[in-house]
Parts: sequence; C-alpha cells; structure tokens
Amino acid sequence: MAGAQKNIEKGIQGEAYVRDVIEKASELLGKLIRVYNHVILDFPSVYGKRTVEIDHIIVTDDRIIIGETKAANYVQTDYSEETWTLLNGVTTDNPIEQNHFHKQIFCSCFDIPREQVVTVEFLLEYSERSVRSHYPNDYVLGKDNLLEGICLLLSEGKEKLDFDELCKQLEKIEAKSAWRDAEHKENLEEIREIEEKTRTRDNHYRFKRTDTVKCPLCDGFLVFRYKPWVKKKLGNKKNTWNIALGCSNYSKTGCDKFIEPKKDGGQGFDDVEEIHIEDRMGWTMEERHVGTILDEYINLREENETLKNNLQAERSKNQAKDNQILDLKETNKRLEINVAKAINRAEEAEQECKRFKRFFGQVYIKK
Ligand SMILES: [Zn+2]
Repeated sequence: MAGAQKNIEKGIQGEAYVRDVIEKASELLGKLIRVYNHVILDFPSVYGKRTVEIDHIIVTDDRIIIGETKAANYVQTDYSEETWTLLNGVTTDNPIEQNHFHKQIFCSCFDIPREQVVTVEFLLEYSERSVRSHYPNDYVLGKDNLLEGICLLLSEGKEKLDFDELCKQLEKIEAKSAWRDAEHKENLEEIREIEEKTRTRDNHYRFKRTDTVKCPLCDGFLVFRYKPWVKKKLGNKKNTWNIALGCSNYSKTGCDKFIEPKKDGGQGFDDVEEIHIEDRMGWTMEERHVGTILDEYINLREENETLKNNLQAERSKNQAKDNQILDLKETNKRLEINVAKAINRAEEAEQECKRFKRFFGQVYIKK
C-alpha cells in the first residue's frame, strides 16, 4: 500500500529529525549525553518471547529519557484512550501507553528504578499540547516546544548517577538491533493476532503484554501456542479457537501442560492466573514523580498565564468603573443644566408674578 509506505517513510524522517534536535540541544547546553536509537529489547510474556523497539534512549548524568517519535496525524489524541486512530482509519497504540510499556520493559530488563526514567512522546504533527500526561514521569512534546522541552529535560539535575555499565550494554544491544527489524515486525504482528483472538466479551485484551503465567506443573511459563498444529490438536475446523497455552519447557523437559480455551476466545482463559510485571518487579508502591526543570518551567508558565488573566480582568473592571464615572459626569452635567434652566424659569415666574401683583395692586388701589 502506497499510503502505508508513506507513513513508514514519514516515521523514519521523524526519528531522524528528533535525533538532530537532541544533538542540537546537547550542543546548546554544552553537555555530553549518550544517545541510543532504535534499540530492540527482549522480554518474557504470556505472548511468548517478544521484543520492543525503543526509538530513543538518552542517558544523562542523573536520568534516562525514553523517547517515542510519532510523525502521524490522528483522528483524536485523547491521552487517556487506550488506542488512537490514524487518519487512514487504522487503530494504533496510544503512544503514551506504548511508551509506558517500553519503560516497564526497559526498567525490568536493566533493573532500574522507575523514578530514574522519564518518558517523552514527540508528536511532530502537533503543537500546544498539554505537556504532562497521567503518568508521573511522562511528558508530551510537540513541534512548537520540542527543542525547548528537550533542553529543559537535559538540564542539570541535583544528583549524579553512574550509568556506565548500562551504557556499555546499550551500545552492544543497539548494534545488534539494526539487524532485528524483520523479527520485531513479525513479533508485533503475532502479538496483535493473539490479542485479537483472546479478546474478552467486553472487547478488552485478556492479557497485558507484560503479563506472564507460571506453569502449574514445572518451573516453566505458559505461553500462547497458535500455529497450525494447535488447531489440529484442538480439533477445530473453524479458524476461531485455534489458540491454547502451552509450557515453555515442552521442548526441554517434555512438560505437556496445555490449557485450551473453554468457550469463545478470551473468555476461555478466565481461570488462568497471570502475574503482572509490577508484582514480578516488586513495584508495589505508586511510581513517585521526580521534579524536573521542565516541570518548573510549566508551572511558571501556568502562573504567568493566571497572572495575565487576573491583570486583564482587573483592567476590564477599571475600564468599567471609568465608564461609570464618565456616565455619572454626563448625568451630572445634564442635571446642572436642568437645574439652571429651572432656576431661570423660577426667576422669570417670580418677575411675572411681581408684575401681576403690581397690576392688580394698582387696580385694587384705584377701586
Ligand atoms: Zn511446565
């Protein structure tokens, strides 16, 4: 499809553009940072041995920034929606959720506290977006504040952390990742296919990509099997139920634990107990927000906006008072004129009256 190809090219250009901006920010700040692009990481999942691809990993003295670049236009960009829809109608991951998922994999792969990792979504087709999302250490930058935002995120923190060992590993992984594009793409397609097959009746995916399931018979894990032999084993002629959970140790120890779906699709795996990544990693507490200079900047900008609005309101009030005073002055002037006229008239009336008095007086006297 020409449209899809165009989107891929736009994506590649977008990533290159962000790489340039990161380099520019590092030059502007005169700060040496380490950047790894296009890094493919492996992770265990109930969906099998799977991969994630992280667009940018920036390592500074005190934090790690995981960046996801999007050069696409969407029908809507509601931060809290699970999925976003591209203009061509294709449903795709909400990049905020996608990046959160990448962060979970990254932190679990290298055993790094979540508070040391910031995620940023670069929405290159958008501007004037809200910079903070619902995740505690996550930011959304658009074309209008990309360089500024990166500069502020790269600015000096208080503590220095040692990421040398991590960087050595990332260097090796980055080099290998270049050859794993096709594998990653296939992985993604397979996960999506399984997700669709295991949807629950209310249309949610039954398992998170970061979930694992322990085998009840051995120390292995249960993973989805859905290749043609499963279909044969399940005896399904229709294409709908050809999915089951099997033990990851099958080829090593022959453990043949096999869980078939009971009814339709995802509903059939209701009894399966998954282990969430939070539990595996011991992330029992809510992730703490760690303040950055970008936060301070956002706060100051908001305060500034409020002050500006207050000032404007104050000015409007003053203007209204000035107008009232002008009105009063007008009214006053009109009243003064009226009073003057009235006095005039009264004087005239008095004169008139005197004349009449005299006249009647004479008449009376004559009488
Ligand atoms: Zn087993």
